[in-house]
Amino acid sequence: MKRQLELNPLEVYRTVVAKGHRVLGVTLETDFKERFLEQLDELAEKFGIAITHFQVSRSLRDKTAKCFAFIEIENSELSIKEIKELLKKQKFVKTLKTVKPLKQEIIGDIYHFPIITLDQRAIMLEKNVYAAIFKDIRELFGTAANAFLYYMGFGTGKKLYLRLIELTNGPQLEALMKALRIANLSMGWGIIKDIYVDKILKKAAVVVYENFECDLGKRSTTPYSHFYRGVLAGFFTEYFGEEMTAEETKCIAKGDNYCRFKIRKACKSL
Ligand SMILES: [Zn+2]
Repeated sequence: MKRQLELNPLEVYRTVVAKGHRVLGVTLETDFKERFLEQLDELAEKFGIAITHFQVSRSLRDKTAKCFAFIEIENSELSIKEIKELLKKQKFVKTLKTVKPLKQEIIGDIYHFPIITLDQRAIMLEKNVYAAIFKDIRELFGTAANAFLYYMGFGTGKKLYLRLIELTNGPQLEALMKALRIANLSMGWGIIKDIYVDKILKKAAVVVYENFECDLGKRSTTPYSHFYRGVLAGFFTEYFGEEMTAEETKCIAKGDNYCRFKIRKACKSL
């Protein structure tokens, strides 16, 4: 039976194209204690400023919150200079900087670097870029690229397992599988809907919707994943303490509604 998934995309807004709109980037550090969100909202409403994106990041170690916002000032009578002065006057604002659009009207956060997730540096790859890594390489190197992608995934899966063990304080099955789902979802890799694990027979099955790798291979006649099935093989190799392999039995690239992977003990040759 086909299952349709309703997606709920989130724009992360590191950069926007401000064509035809008066948009300003604002970065500020605030004292977290000061109910600043409420106060910012009140100011925006009073002066006809629309906050189109607002990101707040607060370290648990200190009381300061780092914020980055894109604001539309189309309907505001205030100039950029007046907006800056207004914000600087607020008690909760510790530091303030603004970013104006460049000539091409692209505007982005030029103040925060690097981006961090789970205490580690992260990079963002848009589809054109990750397609070059996960798709174009196959056109250049043929089947050799498949093995390369698989082993690249295998190493990634092993590292992912160790990281999730660290974050979940141990290899308890339920917590670990929950963490695997969350990691996949939050990194934008795919939506894991079902995971079946047989600890005794050392085998597993994973159902993934919207797998980013197979999304690149639409109209394929065979299952498309090599990197991602490598990730699962590496992950479960660490979990079971024995070398595992992963086979893709259903795939969105060949028209299935989801990708399904069977993970089992590896034979001597893949
Ligand atoms: Zn697939």
